Amino acid sequence: MPIAANLEAIQQRMAAACKRCDRLTESVRLLAVSKTVDAGRIALAAAAGQQLFGENYVQEFVAKQAALPAELDWHFIGALQSNKVKFLAGKVAMIHSVDRLSLAREISRQWQQLDQRIDLLLQVNVGDETSKAGVAADDLETLVRAVAALPNLRVRGLMALPPYSDDPEATRPWFQQLRQLAEKIDKLALPGVIMDELSMGMSHDFEVAIEEGATLIRIGTALFGERVYA
Ligand SMILES: *Cc1c(COP(=O)(O)O)cnc(C)c1O
Repeated sequence: MPIAANLEAIQQRMAAACKRCDRLTESVRLLAVSKTVDAGRIALAAAAGQQLFGENYVQEFVAKQAALPAELDWHFIGALQSNKVKFLAGKVAMIHSVDRLSLAREISRQWQQLDQRIDLLLQVNVGDETSKAGVAADDLETLVRAVAALPNLRVRGLMALPPYSDDPEATRPWFQQLRQLAEKIDKLALPGVIMDELSMGMSHDFEVAIEEGATLIRIGTALFGERVYA
């Protein structure tokens, strides 16, 4: 299906999911995950009305962003090495994948040099999977406190990439866990922390994520089709 039709279908499913659980449609944003998608196809999605894109690989992001209109908004959602943060500085509105203090320190340093502020999400390894990035749930509070104390950033919420299952219902408990962790952190009322974003849900399970409180759903395949790795 063409990208514009995919986009419309996703928007309709998002609206229906919001309606089912009495949420406002505007309370959930679609982040179009464009890793491995070339700039031409991103431009098609933009022409169809999509404004917000998410990328996983620093070099790929930098090259494509330079080729696309400056009005688009970008989030970084992939594994991030501290020595690559400088290439993102000033170019992304949010980083979803912060899972250690050393990385947050470098982000803070880079945005300080620009005299700007960046919004961060802390990635939680909800399934405690050894293969996955993310802070362990037990260590989250300590990390939030340390990150939030750094200048030129705000902690805006949490992100998770739960253990994969073909059955979206099997993922619901992980989404619930992420929301409960966010509520717990929110109650601490820490300076520099505004727990209003939950980044969770992908192509195959975003409706369940919306029912469990997602504010940012990260959709690649359902919008752009199967990814082709070069
Ligand atoms: C690739 C990716 C997605 C999108 O996955 P789809 O199943 O294609 O929708 C979402 N989040 C992260 C972190 C990703 O790397």
